[in-house]
Amino acid sequence: MKYSVSLQRCETYIPADIEGALKKLLAPLGGMGAFVKNGQRVLIKPNMLAGRHPDRAVTTHPEVLRAVIRMVQAAGGIASVGDSPGMGTAAKVARQSGLMEVIEECGATFAPFSDSVPVQSTHFFHELELARDILDAEVIINLPKLKTHQMMGMTCAVKNLFGAVVGLRKPKLHLQAGSDKKLFARMLLDLAGKIQPALTIVDAVVAMEGEGPGSGDPKEMGALLAGSNLLAVDALACHLSALPPSQVWTQKIALELRMAGARFEDLELHGAPLFCIPLKPAKPTDIHFGLPKALQTPLEKSLTARPRVKPERCRICGDCVKACPPEAMRIEKDQLRIDLDRCIRCFCCHELCPHAALSIHQGLLLRMAAFFGRA
Ligand code: SF4
Ligand code: SF4
Repeated sequence: MKYSVSLQRCETYIPADIEGALKKLLAPLGGMGAFVKNGQRVLIKPNMLAGRHPDRAVTTHPEVLRAVIRMVQAAGGIASVGDSPGMGTAAKVARQSGLMEVIEECGATFAPFSDSVPVQSTHFFHELELARDILDAEVIINLPKLKTHQMMGMTCAVKNLFGAVVGLRKPKLHLQAGSDKKLFARMLLDLAGKIQPALTIVDAVVAMEGEGPGSGDPKEMGALLAGSNLLAVDALACHLSALPPSQVWTQKIALELRMAGARFEDLELHGAPLFCIPLKPAKPTDIHFGLPKALQTPLEKSLTARPRVKPERCRICGDCVKACPPEAMRIEKDQLRIDLDRCIRCFCCHELCPHAALSIHQGLLLRMAAFFGRA
C-alpha cells in the first residue's frame, strides 16, 4: 500500500507566498474540502512549546496558522486553535509567539486545553489524559514545526501531538518513561493513534537544527509538507532533513513494529521533487554501548549526558524546578541545584528554560562515541 504525502517549496513567510504554497500543497490530497465539511468543528494544533518570537523557530509560524485557519473557514469549518505548552499558560504562550493575534484577527476560537479526559491506552501506559478540547473536535488538523529534538531525535507530526496531554501531566508521563526513549516513543505513538488527526501540515519554511526543540538554531528549509498518515509525513521529514529514522525514536519504533506509513519506500510523493537540506542533529543524550543491562545502570551515571546549569545565565526563576518530573531540582541559597541521582535525563529543563541557562553535558565516552560516529 502507498501513503500519499505532498511537498511544496516556500521560501518566505510572506502571507501571499504561504497561501499560494498551501493551496498547491493540498491540491493533490483533494484540497481542504477533502478534510473539512460545512459546519464541522475543527481543532488546529500548532506547536506552542514556549512563548518565543516566531523568528526563533520554536513555534509554528503565525502566517502558516493564519493561512490554515482561512482555508478551514473557506471550507465551511468552525476553526479553533489550541495546545498545552511545556511551560507557562497557553494564552500567554500564544500571545508571546504571535499566534493569538492571528487567532483573533481571523475570528477563530482559542482552545486553552485546560480540562483533561482519561483515555484508555494499550501499551505500558494504561491510561492517558487528553485535552477535552481535542477530543471534542470533529476534525483535527496537526500543524507541527520541523525541529530536531535532543531526546527523541526529531519533533514533527507524531511528537507534536504530545501537546494534547495537559500541562503537568506531561512531566508525569516523562517520569513514568524515565530515560527509556523506547518506552517514551511507544507512548507517543499510542497517543498519536488515539488522536488521529485528519491532516498534518508541517511548517518547515524555517526549521530548527541543533539543540532543539527549544534552544536550537533556525535553519531555512523552504518547505511545507502534508499528509494524512503521521508516520508517512515524518518519514518524508526525515528524508528532507537527513535525520536518519534510526535516530528518530518514534520512527525507529514504528519501523520495528511495521506500522503503516513508516517506510519511506511506501510513500507516494506529490508536488515538488525531493530535496535534502541536512539539519544538524541534537547531541546524543545517552548510550549503552551494547552493554548487558546489569552493567548499564552503574555505568549510566558516568556515561550518560546530564543537565548542567550555566550560573551566569540562570535567573533563578524556578520554572525548571516546577517542570522537573522527579523533583530533582531545587533552589538553595540563590543557586539552582540538580540532584543527578534523581535526574531521569528527560531534559525537560533544557527544553523549557526561557533563558537558555541549561546545557547538556556529555561524558567523555559519550563524546568519543559521537566523534567516532557511533552515537
Ligand atoms: S535554569 Fe532557567 S528555568 Fe531554571 S531557574 Fe535558571 S533561568 Fe529559570
Ligand atoms: S533535572 Fe532536568 S533532565 Fe533531570 S529529571 Fe529534572 S527536568 Fe529532567
